[in-house]
Amino acid sequence: MRKTAKSFQTGIFSTTIIVVFILILCSCSNNNFLIRNGKSEIRIFVSARADRVETYAAFELQKYLQEISGCKLPVTHVDDPDAKMIYVGFDGVPESVLSDLNSSEFGKEEYIIRTTGEDILIAGGKPRGTLYGVVGFLSDHLGCRWYTREVVKVPQKKTIVIHGIEERQKPAFEYREAWYKEAYDTQWAVHNRLNPSIVPIPDSLGGSYICYPFVHTFYQLVPPETYFSAHPEYFSMIKGVRKEHEAQLCLTNPEVVEIAVNTVFQWIEQHPEANVFSIDQNDGYGYCECSSCKALDEAEGSHSATVINFVNQIADTVAKVFPEIKLQTLAYVYSEVPPETIRPAGNVTIRMCHYDYCSAHPLTGCESHNLFIERLEAWHKITNRITIWDYFTNYSRYLMPYPNFERMKNDVRYYADFGCTGLFAQGSNVPENGGGEFSGLRAWVFAQLMWDPWQDGQALIDEFVGNVYGSAAPYISQYIRLLHDKVKPDNVYFSIYAEPTDGGFLTPELVKEAEELFIQAEAEAADDPALLKRVELAHLPVIYTRLYFYSTGGLAFLSEEEMPDVLQKFERIIAEHKITRMAEREDIGNIRNFIERVKTANTFVTDWWLIGPFDNTNENGLQIIYPPEQEFDSSKAYPGSGGRSVKWEHVGNEISGYIDFTGMYHPSDQGVAYAARTIHMEQDTVVQIGVGSNDGVRMWINRKLVLDHHIGRKAEPNQEIVTVHFREGENSVLLKIDQLGGGWGFYFSIL
Ligand SMILES: [Zn+2]
Ligand SMILES: [Zn+2]
Repeated sequence: MRKTAKSFQTGIFSTTIIVVFILILCSCSNNNFLIRNGKSEIRIFVSARADRVETYAAFELQKYLQEISGCKLPVTHVDDPDAKMIYVGFDGVPESVLSDLNSSEFGKEEYIIRTTGEDILIAGGKPRGTLYGVVGFLSDHLGCRWYTREVVKVPQKKTIVIHGIEERQKPAFEYREAWYKEAYDTQWAVHNRLNPSIVPIPDSLGGSYICYPFVHTFYQLVPPETYFSAHPEYFSMIKGVRKEHEAQLCLTNPEVVEIAVNTVFQWIEQHPEANVFSIDQNDGYGYCECSSCKALDEAEGSHSATVINFVNQIADTVAKVFPEIKLQTLAYVYSEVPPETIRPAGNVTIRMCHYDYCSAHPLTGCESHNLFIERLEAWHKITNRITIWDYFTNYSRYLMPYPNFERMKNDVRYYADFGCTGLFAQGSNVPENGGGEFSGLRAWVFAQLMWDPWQDGQALIDEFVGNVYGSAAPYISQYIRLLHDKVKPDNVYFSIYAEPTDGGFLTPELVKEAEELFIQAEAEAADDPALLKRVELAHLPVIYTRLYFYSTGGLAFLSEEEMPDVLQKFERIIAEHKITRMAEREDIGNIRNFIERVKTANTFVTDWWLIGPFDNTNENGLQIIYPPEQEFDSSKAYPGSGGRSVKWEHVGNEISGYIDFTGMYHPSDQGVAYAARTIHMEQDTVVQIGVGSNDGVRMWINRKLVLDHHIGRKAEPNQEIVTVHFREGENSVLLKIDQLGGGWGFYFSIL
């Protein structure tokens, strides 16, 4: 099952003494001086008939050899049998160097580095193999590294000795993309051998693996604006009605297939640069329920049946005209289970999405991944063309510390061992909006692992930290360890939409320790402005965490006295690094709003009497009147959901304004719970109350219903602002919160 990224050919081996002796001589003479004391006789040969990528590769080699040694090797189109040569590309290379090699057998990105006598050959398949060979020579043999746009390591040495090399390499994945701002610098991507689709690499630099259109393409295949009014039957039937928007296509309608085929042929004509064309269901649900679609899906036990059946028909037609072109379709949401008997055509790639799981632990380290693995195995049984779309960032909080490096270190290899053909690591942002916790580190480590997943992931992380953070590196390494040790236990869970309270790892103690490490790291970097800037960017998630908890009532993370300085630093780092957004969703991601919330941090009420869970079957528990709505008696017990006896418990929360029911009741209880207390007023007052809830909420003040909102959502402070009348003396407050899945709790503040 394991795919071999490298194959080393070690040459002839014989037992006779004479041959061994000759080999020893050869290996001695294979210790070539490429450059000695800044001088060299060697030339770089690239054929006059070489393409522009190979010619570029030759000059790239010249440039970096000069940067390393100060010696500029001439680039020539003229071969000279008496001169020492580095041959770049296959064209024009003498037989004595090529010997057994057949250039047509090299894949698009595959290359060989070979020393023969005093010559070196660096050559590969078109379009990128030779260029990747030069990059491989510079990085794997000479130690060059392109960590970030700014931090490039070029070793300095006047003498370069090359030992005998016979190395043939190709990447583990044919498609390699990491969705981090840092990975979308063309030069950086070439040097780290990524071939992204979203921001493609120009053909002059070898091009990349282009997927057109990128994803969710059903409405581009058969646009509802063009067809719906005359042919509603082309679109999904849902509950008996054809839907024009937010649904899918009627995939068993032959006319839909015909239109889709025509669209795909247009795409192929208009996009000769594309390697693969996407026939993808739209985001969300809305599969067709017409009798014909339904019959096929039911017979095959999955909604993927109509999808694959549809894509196969297009693929068969395309294969007759363009046998080398590939199509791609999603196994996603309702189509994740493969059909029972239908098989994807040979030119169809299945794109599987992995999104609903625990980010603390790798694929083999936590049962939250088991359902996905089961489906991956099921698809693997029926196709060898699976490409993966996986999510490696916190989409709710790009700036939150997000200790999922175990996934990064292990899961790229897992996919490679499964023979997957591609990996899209969805990162922190669309490229123009940059920033995100350790996004530069993630981009670089992913790039290395996507080329060769069998490397030691921790060694790559350590190498990046050591080189990018210089004298501050030990503190940053310690910070990374601190976070990851905290989330190792099996019971820690946080998703790709994690709140700072999720998983329970961002405690005041941990944040304090992290803050101290960064104070030391910044002191180490104080004399180097560029380094300090990088260290501060790494510090930003800790600063963000302190401000976040402060804004939600967590004074244990940040005191009122410290807040103005910390906020000022936050704003400065954000501005210096041009970070424009902090989350996938625009509202949560708005930096200005966050800063305002910190400045006007409200008074959160965090000690309550809580009781629950009560039954919430059919999600109507919010409307059912349970005893706490009729009386408050902290000594009484009542029948709760599942026939359990429930009683009032008093809780307080010193570290956050968030009252979390999931710590008390199991989140899968799907119940409703109450929170009660009294608030004392010196006199009659009209006040504004801010409430945030996960999920829906009802609130009574002095037994009068003042808020009623049935909704599924994550809690944010002040999602609802209610103006209420408090009378002199004690006022009763009662909240009722329902659980529809995920988190469960609320914020309550007096504004
Ligand atoms: Zn249908
Ligand atoms: Zn887990």
